[in-house]
Amino acid sequence: MSDCCSAPGLKPFNEALSQMLAQVSPITETLTLPIAQSMNYVLAQDIASPLNVPPHDNSAMDGYAFAINSLSASKTLKLVGRSMAGAPFQGECNAGECIRIMTGAKMPAGCDSVEMQENVSVAGEQISFLQEKTFGSHVRNAGEDIQINQQVLQQGHRITAVDIGVLASLGVAEVKVFRKLKVALIATGDELKLPGQALESGDIYESNSFVLAAMLNKLHVEVINFGIIGDDLAAITAAFVSADEQADAVISSGGVSVGDADYTKTVLDDLGEIAFWKIAMKPGKPFAFGKLKNSVFFGLPGNPVSALVTFHQLALVALIKMQNAQALKRTHIKVKCSTALKKSPGRMDFQRGILSVNEQGETVVASTGSQGSGILSSLAKANCFIILASEQGKLAAGEMVEVQLFDEFL
Ligand code: AMP
Ligand code: MG
Repeated sequence: MSDCCSAPGLKPFNEALSQMLAQVSPITETLTLPIAQSMNYVLAQDIASPLNVPPHDNSAMDGYAFAINSLSASKTLKLVGRSMAGAPFQGECNAGECIRIMTGAKMPAGCDSVEMQENVSVAGEQISFLQEKTFGSHVRNAGEDIQINQQVLQQGHRITAVDIGVLASLGVAEVKVFRKLKVALIATGDELKLPGQALESGDIYESNSFVLAAMLNKLHVEVINFGIIGDDLAAITAAFVSADEQADAVISSGGVSVGDADYTKTVLDDLGEIAFWKIAMKPGKPFAFGKLKNSVFFGLPGNPVSALVTFHQLALVALIKMQNAQALKRTHIKVKCSTALKKSPGRMDFQRGILSVNEQGETVVASTGSQGSGILSSLAKANCFIILASEQGKLAAGEMVEVQLFDEFL
C-alpha cells in the first residue's frame, strides 16, 4: 500500500524541525552580570568598543623612541628622558633627541619609531643607532587591535573565555545577558534503576537523563531533574504538572511508543497540545513535540540512541532558539563510505560513523557497525552521523554519503 518514500503518518524530519522551530519563542528576560560571571551566557546586547585598543601608540620593545627624521642627520641621538608603562614621558622629544622606552609605554610626543636596546650602543647620554630604521618600527598604533565604536560582539553570541578577556580589555565591567533557560528532565519506566542501585530481574540502568543532563549543562541551562518516574498515569501526570510550573521546556524519555505502559503521550494529550509525535527518522520515530500550559515539551523515545539523536537533532536546536542564541552551524561534508550500509527506504537515517583519513590520504567514513537504537556504544565510538535521505535504500561500499560532524555537544 505504502510506496517506498512516503511513510504514512510519519512527519518528514525537515518538516518536523521547521514546524517545531516556528512554534518555540526566544526568552526575553535579561539580567546584568559582572563579566567574570558571564561565561556561556547569551549576550542580550551588541557590544561596541568604547575606546581604541590599544588606547595610545606604544612601544612593542624595550629600547629607544625617536623621530625617524633625526637619524638622517646623525646616527647618534641624545637621551633626554624615559617613558615607562604607566608613567609616560611628559615633555616633547625634539630633533636629535631620543627617549628610553619600555614595552607598552606610551610613545612620547615627537617620536614615531623605536629601536630595540640590543641594536644601540650607549655612552652616557649618547645613544648610537647601529642599524638602518624605517618609519614606525616597533610601534603598536592606537586602535590597531580594536577601533573605537567598532562592533566587537553581537546579541545572540554565547560568551567565551576569550570574549571575557576582550571585554575586560575594553573596560567593560558588566554585560546584559538572557537569563538561563530552565529545563525539566523526566525519565519514565518501571524497569529503570539508578547507577549504584541493585538491579532486580528485568531492570536496567537509567542512562538517558544522565546523558541529557550533561548535554544540557554544556548548553548552560538550569536543569530540574525529576529522576525516574514509574509507568503510572497519576505519577507521570503529577511530574509533568510540576515540571510545567517550573520550567521553560520539559524533556521526557520513554513511554511515547504505543505499548501498554506508554503513558507519556496520554498525559501530554491530556495536559497540553501535541503538535506531532511520529517522525520519519531512524533512530527516533516516536518523538513528540508540543505545548503544555507554560512550557514546551519534547517527548523523546526511551531507547538510549533514539533519545540522544532526537535530542541532538531536534530538541537541542529548538532550545538554542529559545535561549535567543545564534543557531548552531553544523558541518556537513560528502565523503566516500568504506563500508556497505543497511537501509530501508521510508525514513531519514542518522547512522553512526567514524570519519578518518585512510592510507591514501583520502577522508572516508565507516559505519560503527550494528546500528540498533539501544546500542549506546555505537554513539560512543562515532565521531559523525552518516545522514541518508528518506528514499535512499542500502548502499554498497565505496559510495559517496553525506556526513555531519559531531559538534561540541556530543
Ligand atoms: P519505551 O519508549 O519506554 O518503550 O522504552 C524503549 C526502550 O528504552 C526500553 O528498552 C526501555 O527499557 C529503554 N529505556 C527507556 N528509558 C530509558 C532510560 N531512561 N535509560 C535507558 N534506557 C531506557
Ligand atoms: Mg517505557
